[in-house]
Parts: sequence; structure tokens; C-alpha cells
Amino acid sequence: MLTKAPRGTKDVLPSKVYKWAYVEKMFSEICEKFGYKEIRTPVFEHTELFKRSVGETTDIVQKEMYTFSDNGGRDITLKPEGTAPVVRAFVENKIYADAQPTKLFYITPCFRYERPQAGRLRAFHQFGVEVFGAKNPSVDAEVISVAMTFFKKLGLENLELKINSIGCPKCRQKYSEALREFLKQKLDKLCNTCSDRYERNPMRIIDCKKEECQEEIKDAPLILDYICDECREHFNKLQKYLDLMELEYEIDPRIVRGLDYYNRTAFEIISREIGSQATVCGGGRYDGLVEEVGGPETPGVGFGLGIERLLLTLENNNINIPEPKGIDVFIVTMGDRAYERAIEISQKLRMNMVAVDIDHMGRSTKAQFKFSNKLNSLYTIVIGDNELDNNVVSLKNMETGNQDEIALDSIVDEIVNRVEVL
Ligand code: ATP
Ligand code: MG
Repeated sequence: MLTKAPRGTKDVLPSKVYKWAYVEKMFSEICEKFGYKEIRTPVFEHTELFKRSVGETTDIVQKEMYTFSDNGGRDITLKPEGTAPVVRAFVENKIYADAQPTKLFYITPCFRYERPQAGRLRAFHQFGVEVFGAKNPSVDAEVISVAMTFFKKLGLENLELKINSIGCPKCRQKYSEALREFLKQKLDKLCNTCSDRYERNPMRIIDCKKEECQEEIKDAPLILDYICDECREHFNKLQKYLDLMELEYEIDPRIVRGLDYYNRTAFEIISREIGSQATVCGGGRYDGLVEEVGGPETPGVGFGLGIERLLLTLENNNINIPEPKGIDVFIVTMGDRAYERAIEISQKLRMNMVAVDIDHMGRSTKAQFKFSNKLNSLYTIVIGDNELDNNVVSLKNMETGNQDEIALDSIVDEIVNRVEVL
């Protein structure tokens, strides 16, 4: 127990963490180019927030949440997704009173009790964006473009963008009736969860992952055939803007998304190579959500993008993320006097933002050189009694093998001149 992490969780070890840092930096930079600002919200929220916003009939709320009561008796849930907390923060902090739209991005851990598989964890991470306050389909296109530009800048060219319109509550009502009519004779063949959804939210059945349900809904009516003129107009404009941005897409009328508050635009970005967990990014418009959480009527649109699935996709496409370079300097010392000088010099170098290390293990001189190599250092400073008697140190360029003698009191300046410091 003690030495085994809970099922569905994964450590990011130091040897891999540079990949995370790289995609996080790239995502932040792209978002900033599009005018999005970062927001950070707590890891847990009141359970009620997710029930209300994600929806009572969704897989997330019905089966997947990490919910507990805290010592004060509050009903708390670890965030299963990033949108609801951002909506809560938007309302609580009255961000709606600022000039709109509000364009936000986040990087967050998420928690869902699911069956762990490759690309499906219980503790995972998402990038996301949310835009509040704009109805215009240009925002839907922009949000999609943030994700597509991010993928392209990472070198991922062969992802498929699928879009759909799931209409507004008005269209949904007509559609739900048609779907109920279609499913009427098949009710006993659906899974338990879906029989329950039949009355409450039949469109959710389209999204069920169970084979038995997928089989029954093969020829079901499609929401896209039921959308009203305004929703149609919105969808047409979205397509026009995507064309103008030269983003390729496919219309897939089966995309309905897993959250209840989506309306109009729904989209997914799919990577064929990662098998059944192929959806790397999913999002859409959620015009009723801010109001549902207690804020003023405010349109919204956004996406969530799984970081673990993104990294799998990069691996499967053989896209290499540049490995971090080694340290700038390692100081090899011989004897106590030299070691004390090394402690002084290393501190001064670090104050100058030079990456420097010294031996902490009492290694032999030979072993210190070996360790310096292992750390991939650009330079090695060597200090021994001989050098100290002459007030010099020796400075070795590890790439060329060239060695210079430098006066002890100018070694810091010399290194600062030679290496690129921040
Ligand atoms: P799926 O259909 O694969 O269950 P979802 O519709 O539940 O996905 P969203 O709620 O839209 O997923 O979350 C957005 C993204 O977060 C997904 O496209 C995926 O990349 C990632 N994601 C979702 N659940 C997990 C998980 N359990 N482990 C790892 N990544 C996940
Ligand atoms: Mg899911």
C-alpha cells in the first residue's frame, strides 16, 4: 500500500517533466497571443456546483466524481473538469462587470473515478479556455483555433477536427421528442443508465459508451436535422470563419458532448493513433451555464484538452520535445580549502543565474569529473591546493576540452561572460 500509488494515478518523474513544462509553456504562449489570460481556481468545489453545471444525467456526475464531506460537514468534490469552477469564479468575482468578452485559460488537475486505461486516468490534467460574454460565432471559431494552432505549433498536423451543432433548448425539445419516439420500442435493450436518461435527457443516450446502446441508436434521428434557423445561421457562420482561418473540419452530427449545458457548437479534436481514447480535445458553447450557476445571462464557449492524451499523441507521432540542456558549471575540488572556495563561488554564480553544482558526496577527484560529465556540464572548474597557492582556478570547456587558468577573484565574471545567463 505505502509504496503503491492509488490506481489510475501516475507520477511525472524528473526524466519526463521537461515534456510537461514544454507543452505548458507553449499552451500559455499561444493563449496569450490570442488575448487569453490565465486563471487558477481551487482543486475542490462544493459538490452542488458540478451537479448543477455538468448535469445530473451525465456520466461525470452519476459515476465519476470524487466526493466527500469535509470535517465541517461540507459536501465537497475534487474538480472533474475545469469549466464549472471558472464559471463560479467569473460570477463570484463579478468579472462580468468588466469589458467583455472575458477570455481565460487554465492548466488544471482533474479527478474522475473511471476505469483506468492508456490515456484514461483517475487523476489527470487539462488545458482549457473559456470565453464569456460573446454570442458571436467568431468566438467559437477563435476557441477552436486556439486548440488547432497549439497542435500545429507542436508539429501535430494530422488531427481531425469534428464539429456539430446541438442547437438551443428549443431545438433540443423537438429533437428529444423525436428521439424518444424512435427509442420507444427499444427501451428494454438500453443500459440502466440510459433507460433513466430516456425521460430526463434522451440526447445523452447518443453519447453512451456501452456497445448495447450504440447498437440501438445506430439509425437514431440526428440533432443537426432539428436545429432552428438561428442555430443553423450560427453554425453556417462558424464554418465560414473556420474556412477563412484555413482550418479543415468535418461535420459529425453524432458529436453531442458529455456535459449537459452545451448548446449550439460542439466539437472534438481526434487523434487516430491513440486508439479508443482518441479524443484529445473537446469543447463547445454553453450559453445557459453562467445563469444556471447564479450569474447574469452570459454566453460562453470553451474547451478542455487532456494533457496526458496530448503527450501520448506527440509520442505516437514521433514528435520530439527538446531535452533540457545540462548545467553550466560543475566545480571539482580537492581538499577542504578548495571545497570552501567552491561553496563561495557556487553561491556567487547562482546569484548571477548561472546553473552550477558541486559535489555533496565526498567523491574522489576522478568520480567528480565523471559526475560533471553525467550532469552534462558546459564547463568544469577545478580547484586544488596548487591552484589556491597561486590564487587561480582551472577552467575546462567540456565540449572542446580546452583548459584555461583564471584568477580566483575573476572566475565569477569570467563564467558570467562565457555562459548565457537569464
Ligand atoms: P471521453 O469521451 O474520452 O471520456 P470526455 O468527453 O469525458 O472524454 P471531456 O470531459 O470533454 O472528456 O474532457 C476533455 C478532455 O480531457 C478529453 O478530450 C480528454 O483528452 C481528457 N480526459 C477526459 N477524461 C480523461 C481521463 N479520465 N484521463 C485522461 N484524460 C481525460
Ligand atoms: Mg469521459
